[in-house]
Amino acid sequence: MVRLLLVEDDLSIATPLLTALRREGFEVVHVTTGGEAIDAKGVDLVLLDLGLPDIDGREVCRQLRQRDDTPIIVVTARGDEIDRVVLLELGADDYVVKPFGFRELVARIRAVARRSSGQREAPVERLELGTLVIDRRAHQVLMDGELVTLTPKEYDLLDHLADDPGAVHARERIMQEVWDEHWWGSTKTLDVHIASLRRKLAPELIETVRGVGYRLVAPAG
Ligand code: CA
Repeated sequence: MVRLLLVEDDLSIATPLLTALRREGFEVVHVTTGGEAIDAKGVDLVLLDLGLPDIDGREVCRQLRQRDDTPIIVVTARGDEIDRVVLLELGADDYVVKPFGFRELVARIRAVARRSSGQREAPVERLELGTLVIDRRAHQVLMDGELVTLTPKEYDLLDHLADDPGAVHARERIMQEVWDEHWWGSTKTLDVHIASLRRKLAPELIETVRGVGYRLVAPAG
């Protein structure tokens, strides 16, 4: 079970959020000040409001990060002049802007929690996403129980997208990580490989996110 620390002084936000998060199966500790947040121990993930009554949320974020690696999702109000780069520099893992949808928040929590536990555990050797199975040791891909032959680059691309399923992977980032870290040219070769993966596996497996990149959607069993 994921144990969350909710740092939020606005009870009109905190109270319904607590109920909803607990219903979702999270254990939640709620505090209303930055001081209490810094003193809190034994949590797996922090949801941090930036507008706190005692200490600036950015400073709380910085101090929490200095102490340990507990992932932090920053919650900002619309209109806060929040620079994403500054937040990441302070050590935040992700952020959401109020008013946010509850489903969106839960998805972010699960993604951040999964990423951080993934850093601690050994890499997964066999990835199962619905009817798609990636056997990393054998470098083999199975779809609906059938072995699918991929080229090495197709395999690397699929493996990269599958590493964080549901997340949007930016085109440039994929090019840099799957092809070459110094890569800055055309992304046409990426489109060709995506088309090929869709043809070999399932057309709906990889979703195009316009203007950004691609997302892997686990095929339903
Ligand atoms: Ca606040």
